[in-house]
Amino acid sequence: MPKFEGMQPQDYGVLYDRFKASVSRYDCGKYCAPLNNGEPVCCTTSHAIPIMDKTEFKLLETRSDLWHKFKITNAADRDLLSDMHKSCMAAECKGPAHCERDNRSFACRAFPFYPYITKEDKVVGLATYWTFEDRCWLMSNMQVVEADFIKEFIIAYEMVFEKDSYERKVMREQSANHRRRFSRLNRIIPLIGREGGFFKVMPNSHGEIRPARIEEFKKQGPFGSERAYQKAIKEAGGTAIERSPLV
Ligand code: SF4
Ligand code: SF4
Repeated sequence: MPKFEGMQPQDYGVLYDRFKASVSRYDCGKYCAPLNNGEPVCCTTSHAIPIMDKTEFKLLETRSDLWHKFKITNAADRDLLSDMHKSCMAAECKGPAHCERDNRSFACRAFPFYPYITKEDKVVGLATYWTFEDRCWLMSNMQVVEADFIKEFIIAYEMVFEKDSYERKVMREQSANHRRRFSRLNRIIPLIGREGGFFKVMPNSHGEIRPARIEEFKKQGPFGSERAYQKAIKEAGGTAIERSPLV
């Protein structure tokens, strides 16, 4: 019997059953959408093209017509997707107005977090895809992340890592890259611990991790203050929302 490396379609079915929790009780898309033509940033392919395993797409195709293959229409996207692993593909959903909660991809469920892996190869918690920090409200408000989400996120990734060593390698590299980049900027990496709680990876410290207070996680870009946020919405031509998003 050949041994298949990687997640198979049925594995994604199990993963979807285990990873259903909402990241927070807030509908965070409401808070980033006014800065992005009314659509949540992570649901817009001009910001983030969803990449998934071909096997995940295979499963989704049997469950729904929500997803289709992403069509490359410009050189920038071609360039962006050029080094994608051969087991992966770029996909696109029909958009937030048609979202089906049960048929969200693994990437949709996990965003904006990735599993942070230390130099010693330990999965210690959740870090963010920091390049979105100027557009993702949640990254500036990590206190809203629910305990169930953290638990299910870790369970899901441990399942993936057990079956797919390549994915673990990718996340190790992502973590190393995060350390290098933030050391250069002399910034801490904000972390949510795998059992909850806040931590920080110290810059230029070979990855030393210390407990942190949420106040140490600096709010970024337009999320720095109510005034900056409302100003950014105005500049983006968006509709201001009534309640302050800065919880
Ligand atoms: S995770 Fe971030 S980018 Fe996605 S909807 Fe929430 S605030 Fe917006
Ligand atoms: S499936 Fe839903 S959560 Fe995922 S990108 Fe589409 S609209 Fe967003």
